[in-house]
Amino acid sequence: MRLYNLKDHSEQVNFETAVKLGLGKKQGLFFPVELPTITPIELPKILEMDFITRSTEILSKFIYREMSKEKLYENVKQAFLFKHPLKIKITEDIHCFELFHGPTLAFKDFGARFMAQMILSLNKEHESVTILTATSGDTGAAVAHAFYKMKNVRVIILYPKGKISELQEKLFCTLGKNIKTVSINGSFDDCQKLVKEAFNDKKLKESIGLNSANSINISRLLAQICYYFEAFSLISEQQRRNLVIAVPCGNFGNLTAGLLSKSLGLPIKSFIACTNANDTVPRFLDNGKWNPKKTVSTISNAMDISQPNNWPRIEELFYRKKWDLKELRFGSVSDTTTKESLNELFELGYISEPHAAIAYRLLRDQLKKNEFGLFLGTAHPAKFKNTIEKILKTKISLPNELKDRIALPLLSHNIDPIFSKLKTFLLEK
Ligand SMILES: *Cc1c(COP(=O)(O)O)cnc(C)c1O
Repeated sequence: MRLYNLKDHSEQVNFETAVKLGLGKKQGLFFPVELPTITPIELPKILEMDFITRSTEILSKFIYREMSKEKLYENVKQAFLFKHPLKIKITEDIHCFELFHGPTLAFKDFGARFMAQMILSLNKEHESVTILTATSGDTGAAVAHAFYKMKNVRVIILYPKGKISELQEKLFCTLGKNIKTVSINGSFDDCQKLVKEAFNDKKLKESIGLNSANSINISRLLAQICYYFEAFSLISEQQRRNLVIAVPCGNFGNLTAGLLSKSLGLPIKSFIACTNANDTVPRFLDNGKWNPKKTVSTISNAMDISQPNNWPRIEELFYRKKWDLKELRFGSVSDTTTKESLNELFELGYISEPHAAIAYRLLRDQLKKNEFGLFLGTAHPAKFKNTIEKILKTKISLPNELKDRIALPLLSHNIDPIFSKLKTFLLEK
């Protein structure tokens, strides 16, 4: 698979390099030169396959040159070795597609675990690798668990201090061993900036074998395409005809993957790009002006991002496919409305969490007659236990993944959002 840098099209790399580098020159994102497709004749066959076989077929469309199907199958099986997504009926025409049944209870397990498999199998010389990543909540846990105890890999995760839920923090800051966690006195955007600065520092990058695991990494994005096909395979012929998918967006990786599934040939009628008050994209789609504001904290903290990294990929995809950005539906939801929507879902018999509730809200507001809607359940409600219990005035129980970690001490370091401080840390620890 060839990829080009969106900021400098003359920089072209293969899949292996794109996975290892994360970002290209000038911090440009990598984008596939060829956009593979699945023909309408192939599609029903692919939809009938089991999740692992189908995911192998889909990923093989992109990386057939660098990995045999047999080897890819083994990697996919290892990466997606957990309970598959579930489709839950909320109303007749709105269902939730729950992607949070992995080891860290968020959809990010798909991307992080596949990326870990790719790094492991591409690192033939067993060089030492440092994975540096920023998290607004769930990436940290997914990446930490995916690489936990992996040989030759050191993982460093930055997160905004006090801006992720207590349980999210417990999930990845209690592991130790090859996982180092650093709370930053700032916002997620500050963390993301520090990561970018580290990648810009060539010497540092080479001396510690720096690699990124953010949703900017192409391997994570590709893995996420697979569950859109799974969603489609689970709905009826009738529902397939007018399918609308509402995606809770932060860095816009999930939506990019969804759009890539459409570009492959999955006939999804429309997507809704859903954000909280950090609404740079909805405002852009509304008035054509890219005008990020200061990031504000909300109860859907994994979406507290005002400069979404993946957006240039979405623009590029629309350009390449000659799609019109006007076809992308969008909206933003305040905390007050998110709470209302959580209560509405509760009355419908479903306990959700703030991220999915935003997608639900925009879906139920925008779904037209004869359309069928799925909203993505991106994290398990128990990860936001305190918030949700307060809003719904009900008790929710913790799954074992969280129960096991809650009593363990936090092992995080803490630094100010200053690059020299991070650099010292990277070189010392
Ligand atoms: C990461 C995350 C999101 C945002 O996903 P992006 O791919 O960054 O847009 C939404 N909800 C939850 C629970 C998340 O962890």
